[in-house]
Amino acid sequence: DQVRVVIVGAGPAGLVLGNILRARGVDTLVLERNSREYVQNRARAGFLGVHSVRVLTEHGLAGGLLRAGRSHGTCVFRTGEGELTLYYGQLGRGESHVVYPQQDLVTDLVASYLDRGGELRFGVAVTDVDPATGTVRYRDSFGAGEVTGRFVAGCDGGHGVTRQAVPGRPATRDHGVSWLAVLAAAPQSMAAVTYALHDRGFAGHMARGPQVTRYYLQVQADDEPSAWTEERIWTALGERMRVGEYWPLRTGPVTERRIVHLRSAVASRLQHGRLFLAGDAASLISPSAAKGANLAIMAAEVLARGITDVLTRDDERVLAAYSRTCLPRIWRAQEFSHWMIELLHAPAGDDPDIGFRRSLRRARLDSLRDSRAHQDFFAENYVGI
Ligand code: FAD
Repeated sequence: DQVRVVIVGAGPAGLVLGNILRARGVDTLVLERNSREYVQNRARAGFLGVHSVRVLTEHGLAGGLLRAGRSHGTCVFRTGEGELTLYYGQLGRGESHVVYPQQDLVTDLVASYLDRGGELRFGVAVTDVDPATGTVRYRDSFGAGEVTGRFVAGCDGGHGVTRQAVPGRPATRDHGVSWLAVLAAAPQSMAAVTYALHDRGFAGHMARGPQVTRYYLQVQADDEPSAWTEERIWTALGERMRVGEYWPLRTGPVTERRIVHLRSAVASRLQHGRLFLAGDAASLISPSAAKGANLAIMAAEVLARGITDVLTRDDERVLAAYSRTCLPRIWRAQEFSHWMIELLHAPAGDDPDIGFRRSLRRARLDSLRDSRAHQDFFAENYVGI
């Protein structure tokens, strides 16, 4: 059983890669541990940058996004001293996000991949990969099996198995911050993405769809999601968003609540033998700057180009430079995301540096408020990769 490209994981990275390769006539097989229903309903990202929209458009994958996605170019930092509104769509390179829920994008990508004749097996858990031979071993409801690819794409996310087959320790950081990620069946409460900076902890508001809004609350690392009742969630959001000074939140049933620990991990190299890592498997990034899905799409495009060049023209240059091309962009995104984490999170009450760090945070916001150059820099990094 031999195919040219075995792709592990049907998230944005694996599906964009599979779609581009299929459009170029490359024989592909996607192995996905979960069911189709599960991956098509897993709500995560929503903010796509210009580069992602370009890649999806150029490869005929943006139908749903162009129909239902909404342009978004404003963010607000709300503090005890007032609001700072940045019209980032008019700053920097003048680029905005498109808001399109990740589960809708994944649904579109699965459909187009199958339309392009791609093979996709759900309910198949890859157990290990041999980078030297391209052998991928898996388990499914029939038992154990294996398949060999000329290339193997490790697109199995931040907790997958493929990254373990690449030598070298990833560079990691635990940011020491946890969020309760909440989805509410309610329209957005504010026109813009809102980051509320509060001594009790960060709170965030992000549009998703007309009747769905994502909220984040900084919580203790060992908090159980079930301890956060709907009432407690809305009370904490209201307090940290300072609704008394602005306007009330538009509440609705909480449809999802899960704890997200803000962690980063970047593989030291993205290729070993026949195995190439892309997306969260290559670099896990905290959701603080909405970069993960965008990095996944960027890497998938580069990898698709590299593989096609080898298969159609025997040209190995793009593939040989894969790590060198992607890693600097990944690190730029990590750097910006880290900057955002430092900006958004109040030091804890027993932090000896509390006064210093709070003053630094104020200085950062002052700089963003007062310096057009800083605003342009922020906008370029916020939307771009
Ligand atoms: P994934 O989407 O994780 O897909 C990996 C797939 O591999 C999964 O389907 C999984 O089931 C499968 N898999 C895993 N192990 C195996 C195995 N052993 N065998 C077979 N299959 C396997 N990013 C943004 O750009 N913008 C945002 O606004 C944003 N918001 C976010 C909000 C939250 C709450 C979270 C958690 C993340 C957010 N992200 C955001 C990050 C984004 O969702 C991820 O970066 C993105 O999903 C990465 O895509 P991927 O294809 O690399 O991995």
